[in-house]
Amino acid sequence: MTRTLAVIGAGPAGLAAAVTAAEQGMTVTVIDAGLQSGGQFWRHPSEPHLPHFARDESVGHHHWRRFVDLRTRLDAAVARGAVRRLYGRQVWQILAGGTGFVLHTAAVAGADPVPPAERAVSAERVILATGAYDRQLPVPGWTLPGVMAAGGVQALVKAHQIAPGRRAVVAGTGPFLLSVAAGLAEAGVEVVAVCEANSLLRWARRPLHAALEPGKLLEGAEYARTFLRHRIPFRSRTIVTRVHGEDRAEGVSLSRVDTRGRATGEPTRVDADLVAFGWGFTPQLELAVQLGLRTRLDVDGSLVVDIDADHRASLSGVYVAGEATGIGGAVQSWTEGELAARTTVADALGTDAPARRRGLRRRVARARAFARAMHAASVVPTEWSRWLEPDTLVCRCEEVDAAAIAEAVDDQRAEDPRDVRVTARPGMGWCQGRVCGFALASLVGERTGCRWSTAQIEPLHKRSIGIPLPLGEIAALAGASTPPEPESPHAHALAPATAAPDRP
Ligand SMILES: Cc1cc2nc3c(=O)[nH]c(=O)nc-3n(C[C@H](O)[C@H](O)[C@H](O)COP(=O)(O)OP(=O)(O)OC[C@H]3O[C@@H](n4cnc5c(N)ncnc54)[C@H](O)[C@@H]3O)c2cc1C
Repeated sequence: MTRTLAVIGAGPAGLAAAVTAAEQGMTVTVIDAGLQSGGQFWRHPSEPHLPHFARDESVGHHHWRRFVDLRTRLDAAVARGAVRRLYGRQVWQILAGGTGFVLHTAAVAGADPVPPAERAVSAERVILATGAYDRQLPVPGWTLPGVMAAGGVQALVKAHQIAPGRRAVVAGTGPFLLSVAAGLAEAGVEVVAVCEANSLLRWARRPLHAALEPGKLLEGAEYARTFLRHRIPFRSRTIVTRVHGEDRAEGVSLSRVDTRGRATGEPTRVDADLVAFGWGFTPQLELAVQLGLRTRLDVDGSLVVDIDADHRASLSGVYVAGEATGIGGAVQSWTEGELAARTTVADALGTDAPARRRGLRRRVARARAFARAMHAASVVPTEWSRWLEPDTLVCRCEEVDAAAIAEAVDDQRAEDPRDVRVTARPGMGWCQGRVCGFALASLVGERTGCRWSTAQIEPLHKRSIGIPLPLGEIAALAGASTPPEPESPHAHALAPATAAPDRP
């Protein structure tokens, strides 16, 4: 009987999955690149510096009690030897073979180094709960210091309690803008404009779906109160068409736009030293694509892992939960985490709780209906590329501008994003297309007249080495003994219960 499980990611989905699987009898290794659990949603200050923070139920984060509950149960599972935590570790490669999977890991900057022999982790089953990252669109001036991804701004405020500027403009689309603006205002930053590219009336098109999630409506009401208290101006159908400044951001031009994103009227200038852009999120799929899991395009144009109703992926032994299956928010993520874990337990141990799984499936379906309404209300305007100028950088790593992408398509006959990538090099640099991938696919699609397909997008996520890695890590593989194929229920030795702190 197989019992070992590796959970990659300790955000809402991964935490719920690890805790559930351990409580149902699996032996779990949970791995996260972060130095502590929580993922993006429950990002919080460093626990060694604020040790009581992670146990304090009165903390103002949304759904913090849920986090405290999961953390407490995880600690208990660690103490009885059912869970091993590997934090500050990034999985850079995952290989399927024999009776399970081998995960190659590397310590992240700032974490303790890992001896070569301990870098590989094996398990019979894997739950991928790798979350998402910020989706960005280029605009003239977006490379100036002071311009940041909205998620990055949120991380500085939540984890480091730093106010990253004095006067902020928050722009893009989606409810996440409200959360970022509210967080900035509470941190003492003057938020001079929140610019939503779409009309709020778009929400009215699916009122029932929105009403299905009363928790979200309450969150919205809370943000409205914060906006009123801090007098934050909210402008719908408005975008930033340019960031001004010499050495850093000094202001922005704001324009009203029509439903397609075409500017109407004259832009107005607003002074700001912080500009936070959020255009939704992109699921983090490197490991899923490495494993060759079947993928599909979601309603927001993102590539996601294609799963069955119980969260099994197309490869036996692999399950996926959270934003890697589609962007839907934290509640959906932790519900999916529990469902994926219960399915894993049913497959591995034969013990099932069918009624509980049915309930979880229904909860996920409700959350997905809300997510569809959210995506329909928060679309990237189809003609956003009008905001670009020929010399606007699209790929910051390789310094490829909009004109070079147009030239690759028009003059060099590149047919799809992958072709353009090998021709003009966008997406070939340090971030491997994580920042420019969506913009690139969208620009190429517009020029070729073809909406992008799974086959065109998947190669942009394909990396045999998932993260930038020192060559020494790969060289060390030659010297390290390969971990034994997992064969018994406890094939991977667990660290002693007492030696498993929340940090590596
Ligand atoms: C930057 C950012 C900030 C966000 N802030 C908010 C917010 O304030 N409010 C809100 O409602 N929603 C926020 N979201 C949306 C949010 O991601 C989700 O709703 C929720 O956190 C999703 O949970 P998850 O478990 O699916 O993924 P996540 O919370 O993203 O957790 C995934 C975890 O997997 C880990 N991971 C990924 N790949 C690897 C790997 N190869 N090796 C090891 N570890 C890996 C990551 O370190 C991360 O901790 C944010 C998203 C982003 C990208």
